[in-house]
Amino acid sequence: MSSLLHPDRLLPADPSVRAVARRLYGEVETLPIVSPHGHTDPRWYAFNENFPDPARLFVVPDHYVFRMLYSQGIPLEKLGVPRADGGETEQDGRAIWRLFAANYHLFRGTPTRAWLDHAFATLFGLEERLSEKTADAAYDLIADKLQQEAFRPRALFERFNIEVIATTESPLDDLSAHAEIRASGWGGRVVTAYRPDPVVDPEFEGFTTNLRRFGEITGEDTFSWPGYLAAHRKRRAFFKTFGATSSDHGHPTAATFDLPPQEAEALFRRVTGNAPVSAQDAELFRGQMLTEMARMSLEDGLVMQIHPGAVRNHNGQIFARFGRDKGADIPSPTEYVRALKPLLDRFGNEAGLTIILFTLDETSYARELAPLAGHYPALRLGPAWWFHDSPEGMKRFRAMTTETAGFYNTVGFNDDTRAFPSIPARHDVARRIDCGFLAELVCEHRLDEDEAVEVARDLAYGLAKKAYRL
Ligand SMILES: [Zn+2]
Repeated sequence: MSSLLHPDRLLPADPSVRAVARRLYGEVETLPIVSPHGHTDPRWYAFNENFPDPARLFVVPDHYVFRMLYSQGIPLEKLGVPRADGGETEQDGRAIWRLFAANYHLFRGTPTRAWLDHAFATLFGLEERLSEKTADAAYDLIADKLQQEAFRPRALFERFNIEVIATTESPLDDLSAHAEIRASGWGGRVVTAYRPDPVVDPEFEGFTTNLRRFGEITGEDTFSWPGYLAAHRKRRAFFKTFGATSSDHGHPTAATFDLPPQEAEALFRRVTGNAPVSAQDAELFRGQMLTEMARMSLEDGLVMQIHPGAVRNHNGQIFARFGRDKGADIPSPTEYVRALKPLLDRFGNEAGLTIILFTLDETSYARELAPLAGHYPALRLGPAWWFHDSPEGMKRFRAMTTETAGFYNTVGFNDDTRAFPSIPARHDVARRIDCGFLAELVCEHRLDEDEAVEVARDLAYGLAKKAYRL
């Protein structure tokens, strides 16, 4: 094992607790990876082409990486991030890599650093910390390996021991990459997930055009309320043929509404009409659609995920220049108790429905989310997410939710990543932190070790399969 990775990393510092944590971790270390929510590109698995170069694997597509560099004044153009207008950006992978390596100290103390070191060491055998000095040697070593058969996406998928991975697609996606995977005869299990924001959020770029396209694809009149709902039903069924077991909803808030049918129809006419849509109607419509999606989930069995609370595209200049998902999304306070009540009044008692709640607002864990999930049969808590997908974030999640919701109202780990080589690292961090948390309970005699082993295995593997019906 490379000197970049200490075998006891992230385990408790107290030697007696660490000893228990090590034993627990030994039970889960090599379990297969179940990745029920994420954003890897299905074309990687479909076409199995070599990743082009180290910069285009580790820097250019990873907003965790380039947002930190940008925060220190490095222009995104110099990091090769494509511009919305197709304008000039750095194309030389080595130049991008050198800039990244010279600034690697910026990642000290961040989970990004831990994920990168894990991939550098376990995949590429790097022994030395990345820096200006080691940049070229690291680049050459990684670039050379990336050309090899063993470093193509499918080989890595197998090496990572991924049992199943979900990607996330819009209803407007034809899922041709998924079709290609199926047709190829390759045995890796890649499924899609239904992410309807582009046709559910009246404030999404190109909403009206998207609806038109939605109608063409489904053969439904998506400018009538019944036709629009029928289009969703059809598309969900189509996604299920490519293995989808979940839908995913990324709304600014957790607001839900349950309007009487005529009011819902009138609202639909307003948000699809010619007049500009008010912010209030946009919010009302997104919230009504969560309830409609829950109704469809009861029919077709898709698990719902609600990912609220990100103020998207906070930096207007970056959005104009580079588009969305460029590290400029910022968390904001999120309320759940009143926001979810309309949906829960209608469907919260349905044991056949699973709604997985995520948050970027950690103050809601103990006050709102754990009490909700610890009561309503339809609710589960998703793991620490995005800005909180970190050792400290995971510890805070367990500390603030377990006493009220227990472990079995949570759903294991999601890597939620676009960065393929970080997948094993992220699951490994979650396994280590959970084992540390369980070891504390064992050492305080709040849990027997044989129970802790069972929970550790469930958190690493079993709960994700069960909650996501995979
Ligand atoms: Zn996601």
